[in-house]
Amino acid sequence: MTANHTKKTDIDGKGDSAVAYGLDPKPQSPFWPMTVALMMAEKAMDCGEVPVGAVIVQGNRIIARAHNQMNGLTNPMAHAEILALVQAMGVLSSKYLPNCHLYVTLQPCAFCIQALILARIGRVYFGAYDTSVSAPASFESIGGICEQRCQSILHQFFHEKR
Ligand SMILES: [Zn+2]
Repeated sequence: MTANHTKKTDIDGKGDSAVAYGLDPKPQSPFWPMTVALMMAEKAMDCGEVPVGAVIVQGNRIIARAHNQMNGLTNPMAHAEILALVQAMGVLSSKYLPNCHLYVTLQPCAFCIQALILARIGRVYFGAYDTSVSAPASFESIGGICEQRCQSILHQFFHEKR
């Protein structure tokens, strides 16, 4: 009984630390940060911005989350990825992020790819494909993560705009 109780407390302890970061303590999929990126995309949608969300993780910890804010910041460079990069650099007090991974709901554009290269990001996971993107990237990237959901929020946005 006592041994069981001790074990349970340990598990809860881990869960609590995950909850403290606002994360799911029992991630269902290795790509769980994409669900957070999708939440950011929904937030962008609510603000009338093109719904793209981005999250940067270090290990199991989200250190930055952002959404597209080109209108809100009156800045054509305020892409979700760029805002997340700047946040992560601030959190780590580092201009390079080699141990961090980016999750973004839409395949990064050429501008963001260049920024991600400069930031020496570890790996990039993206949701929806953007067929107009053809810029070479020196980092590893994996597309099609939660692709349907990432794509449908964009379709919804542009459909409502018409
Ligand atoms: Zn971009």
